[in-house]
Amino acid sequence: MAHLLIVEDDELLRDGLSAQLTLAGHRTTTAEDGEVALARLAENAFDGVVLDLGLPKVDGLTVLRRLRQRLSALPVLILTARDGIEDRVEGLNAGADDYLTKPFNRDELLARLQSMLRRASLPAFGAVSPLPSPIVHGSLRVDPVLPRAWLGDEVIDLTQREWALLDLLVRHSGQVVSREDVLAVWQSEPGEPGGGASNALEVYVHRLRRKLAGSTLNIRNIRGLGYLLESAAAP
Ligand code: CA
Repeated sequence: MAHLLIVEDDELLRDGLSAQLTLAGHRTTTAEDGEVALARLAENAFDGVVLDLGLPKVDGLTVLRRLRQRLSALPVLILTARDGIEDRVEGLNAGADDYLTKPFNRDELLARLQSMLRRASLPAFGAVSPLPSPIVHGSLRVDPVLPRAWLGDEVIDLTQREWALLDLLVRHSGQVVSREDVLAVWQSEPGEPGGGASNALEVYVHRLRRKLAGSTLNIRNIRGLGYLLESAAAP
């Protein structure tokens, strides 16, 4: 169910749309002119708007532009006159998501509206959570996306397990990473053969230490607790 704002000065059409959309399971609020529409938009949160362009007091395009300044993602379907090609183009340029020309088929309106609401509920490309940025720790830079690590300008050659260990240590720098934490990550990683992982941990830590040699970083063994990545350069 969506809360829809219907902006239409033709009373018959406005009431008809409201009744039809209510019947389709939506909640509707109506506005008979552009001024009322802007007031409703200011006081309510809507999921979508059906907006007639030919409106008294404040025209539909102005309503659309004002609405877009504030609510960039709100889905808007505009209603235009049959010969209003310019209106339609202007409306789409002003940020309408879809349009219907009058007279329109009520079922088509409903279908277009449903598809517009569905699209709006999908995350836009830009709205997907951002990729994690590289972590810099002294001369070490770790990019979890690539995934790759550098010491200064040199790429560190790492096996999958070494990578997982380093990534874990860097992401929890300043905290002790337990042996169990490392093993849990290793077990979740496909690729490298499992088994003997617990005994192998010291070997991997030793190898990783060697790969970090020459930097200010060291992996400290905290007896009985786990490992800690420390930087001599850290304040
Ligand atoms: Ca009108």
